[in-house]
Amino acid sequence: MISVAIDGPAGAGKSTISRTAAKELGFIYVDTGALYRAVGLKFLNDGYNTDLLCDIDAVLADTKVDIRFIDGEQRVFLGELDVSDKIRTPEVSMMASAVSAKPEVRAYLLEMQRRLARDNNVLMDGRDIGTVVLPDATVKIFLTASAEDRANRRYKELIEKGQEVTFEEVYEDMVKRDYKDSHRAIAPLKPADDAVIADTTGNEFEQSLALILKIVREKAGI
Ligand code: C5P
Repeated sequence: MISVAIDGPAGAGKSTISRTAAKELGFIYVDTGALYRAVGLKFLNDGYNTDLLCDIDAVLADTKVDIRFIDGEQRVFLGELDVSDKIRTPEVSMMASAVSAKPEVRAYLLEMQRRLARDNNVLMDGRDIGTVVLPDATVKIFLTASAEDRANRRYKELIEKGQEVTFEEVYEDMVKRDYKDSHRAIAPLKPADDAVIADTTGNEFEQSLALILKIVREKAGI
């Protein structure tokens, strides 16, 4: 099986580029951030905030996160509920970042991610795919861009979805989240030693897509 690991900070265009690149390559696209978001949503639903003053294992024992592919698109389920759209809010973003720093949560999601890569050709995006989840991935890419570029992209996405946010809020949330993701003790966001760094600052979508496809084809020899 061929596995492509794409890691990087929030808003670098990982998911949009990865989804399209996976389609072109005929691979399954796995958005691992959605798994952390679904777990974050569960903690929010149970009434907890980002301090997470609770028995994490007890909440996880009562959590069922699952991904299913419907018409080739990944959908995320919490129990029997499709929460794929519900998890795309700033509140869930911050909660996902909080729960993802907990070793119990990372362990809970690890095997599901590895299984997907065992059974399929995958393009998987996240924060620790090349470093922890798939250390033997065929291709590892660290996709990044300037903080301004990334906040701008995320701001436009949220406005298009009709959410009421300001650019400043999005920028601050993003910088805070990146700091937390990069400085946590377990599986911090960082490029794998053997990752190719792809900086998309100032790029149009098509340019970034072409860059990623070129790296994958060269490295995987396909
Ligand atoms: O990629 P996305 O912004 O949807 O991820 C939400 C949060 O989930 C991130 O800020 C990060 O804290 C966490 N995450 C992670 N490891 C991954 C994917 C996401 O810790 N592989």
